[in-house]
Amino acid sequence: MRVLVTGGAGFIGSHLVDRLVEEGYEVVVVDNLSTGRKENVNPRAEFIRRDLKEPGWGAGLRADVVFHFAANPEVRVSTTEPRVHFEENMVATFNVLEWARASGVRTVVFASSSTVYGDARVMPTPEDHPLEPISVYGAAKAAGETMCAAYARLYGVRCLALRYANVVGPRMRHGALYDFLMKLRKRPEELEVLGDGTQRKSYLHVEEAVEATLRAWRKFEETGEPYLALNVGNFDAASVLDLARAAAEAMGLSPQIKLRPATSDGRGWPGDVKYMLLSIRRIVELTGWRPRLNSLETAKRAAAELVKELTW
Ligand code: NAD
Repeated sequence: MRVLVTGGAGFIGSHLVDRLVEEGYEVVVVDNLSTGRKENVNPRAEFIRRDLKEPGWGAGLRADVVFHFAANPEVRVSTTEPRVHFEENMVATFNVLEWARASGVRTVVFASSSTVYGDARVMPTPEDHPLEPISVYGAAKAAGETMCAAYARLYGVRCLALRYANVVGPRMRHGALYDFLMKLRKRPEELEVLGDGTQRKSYLHVEEAVEATLRAWRKFEETGEPYLALNVGNFDAASVLDLARAAAEAMGLSPQIKLRPATSDGRGWPGDVKYMLLSIRRIVELTGWRPRLNSLETAKRAAAELVKELTW
């Protein structure tokens, strides 16, 4: 089976490619290297540098299944530069679906996000909770999901949307944990934390996220459903202060923590979801997968791995 992974030079995509290659799939990576790195791409995968914002990006390519993981994942950027997210996350997703329709792709697995729920009213948040994003990033993911669902019902390009919690681990180059490590490298004695420190979110290690992705995809292939959305997260959450302490501990530092709330209710930036805990009952029941590390253990493991990986 020929599998195409968009964003396969990025953080989650490259780990997914490693697993797919290991399992014997023929893998093609399409990435424009805007945030991804060529050295992340498994040498046994074919690498093609193309930009998904170009409508003709898929010329000459063929695949049975597409894992669409390319995106601009910076929620904060979407607040200040909404057009970037419209193009990187909505236009690119539309172009992927158009190519999938034209080239006879059977299944698209779409990397969506917990941010589609916005400030959820139910915790843990189930998949049938209304999608009420509070960031342009979240809105672009929700739009991508509904476009996928329409392509599934209208054109038979089946789609599995996976709403990931915060995924962390080696090769990660964005997000709060990475930012903390970078800040500590510059100023070991002080650590600025965006928000009032009480934000609580769920963390999942990238290895576990990839395992969940593959299990969910296989189950989805067995069902005849045109479209399915599943949460992929953890059973619990950790605070941003826990995350900051995990970063400091991994570097062997005891910095003074400076809290910087950006809004009157203590968010890190406008559009930051303050509390996120997904219900993972559906994926657990469907696939038997369950996370092994809790959110804090995940953050500690990822911090230690990143400290080892980055040259200090
Ligand atoms: P990443 O930035 O490491 O990977 C994204 C990849 O997409 C990069 O390699 C980048 O070069 C590529 N890319 C971006 N725009 C492109 C374009 N126009 N054409 C071709 N390639 C392009 O991010 P990540 O954390 O690995 O995220 C992967 C996916 O998972 C994204 O869709 C993201 O929104 C989603 N997601 C991530 C998290 C997380 O915690 N990391 C959580 C929820 C959802």
